[in-house]
Amino acid sequence: MGILGGSFDPVHAGHVALATCALQHLQLDEVRWVPVGQAWQKNRVLAPAEHRVAMVRLAIAHEPRFTVDTQEVERAGPSYTLDTVRALQTQAASDAAPTEWYLIIGLDQYRNLPTWHGWEELLDRVHLAVACRDSAALPDLNLGQVCALPMPPLSVSSTHIRQQLLAGEDPNSLVPTMVSNAVARYIAQHQLYADRQPPLNGHP
Ligand code: ATP
Repeated sequence: MGILGGSFDPVHAGHVALATCALQHLQLDEVRWVPVGQAWQKNRVLAPAEHRVAMVRLAIAHEPRFTVDTQEVERAGPSYTLDTVRALQTQAASDAAPTEWYLIIGLDQYRNLPTWHGWEELLDRVHLAVACRDSAALPDLNLGQVCALPMPPLSVSSTHIRQQLLAGEDPNSLVPTMVSNAVARYIAQHQLYADRQPPLNGHP
């Protein structure tokens, strides 16, 4: 079982490539996508969870082994991956066959991991599967055995997509970095990430 957490604000082609690479390379039965509820390490307001979840559903509709888990957006308080992993492992405890757990992360999150809440217990519970977001080799951070995912670097990020949309770019023109026409249509329909400041003096 793979677990891919993220803010997915919005989901993009890098996320899908990462999950697909993990699915194939680790021969996973499932990749569970977990949109964050309260991103305690991000100091900005995320798009509403219902939109981020809906976009993930659209982005992964092509692959039945990709599933969405909304536990973090339903849970009160900061979203800690450790709580999520504990809950998933408790649910799976009654399964006939034991599950092997892989936490799928990009290189930026790997470097950041020692700042995560309860990261040492987390590492006792999961294997790490790490993709390099740039061409740098996987640094040895002394975090135990780590599986490097052979993913060609993709420079796409949610930040860049949000910036382009804020600058007035048409969501449809951002496909394929934004994954699919369905996600682009969703963003356009709900006017996500557009500058929605009210006009001065009420005039358009
Ligand atoms: P933001 O730009 O808003 O910080 P992001 O593009 O990094 O967002 P997240 O939703 O925060 O996206 O990332 C979820 C997971 O996907 C993280 O583990 C992150 O490292 C990984 N990831 C994001 N973009 C890529 C990419 N282009 N290649 C590989 N992994 C990625």
